[in-house]
Amino acid sequence: MNRDDCLFCKILGGDIPADIVYEDDTAIAFRDINPKAPTHVLIIPRRHIATINDIEPADQALVGSLFSVARHIAAQEGFDDQGYRVVMNCNEAAGQTVFHIHLHLLAGRDFAWPPG
Ligand code: AMP
Ligand code: ZN
Repeated sequence: MNRDDCLFCKILGGDIPADIVYEDDTAIAFRDINPKAPTHVLIIPRRHIATINDIEPADQALVGSLFSVARHIAAQEGFDDQGYRVVMNCNEAAGQTVFHIHLHLLAGRDFAWPPG
């Protein structure tokens, strides 16, 4: 899949609606359509990067900034002290279904570890 038929690039381009909670020059965040926790936000770079395996050295600051966005949203939604989970899946065996990297920010429930 490339950026022309990438679901998240279509959200970035405004072709598919999303409940956007944050945006800046390099990233946007929107609520997951099928939430796995009371708060479930996806944080994506504007640049199309398919998987973690495709992250280049030049992307390091961009990828790092996704965590700053996660921290910002967690604080905005009041979960900074209570805690929250941040996850990025890579390829099918890990459950990646959209091939444009995204951080899942999950909050508002207890998270069992290790996951079942
Ligand atoms: P992953 O399985 O890690 O690739 O995560 C992809 C996530 O995208 C899943 O949690 C889906 O529920 C979510 N998702 C799929 N389509 C949409 C959409 N149109 N708007 C918001 N979230 C979506
Ligand atoms: Zn994309």
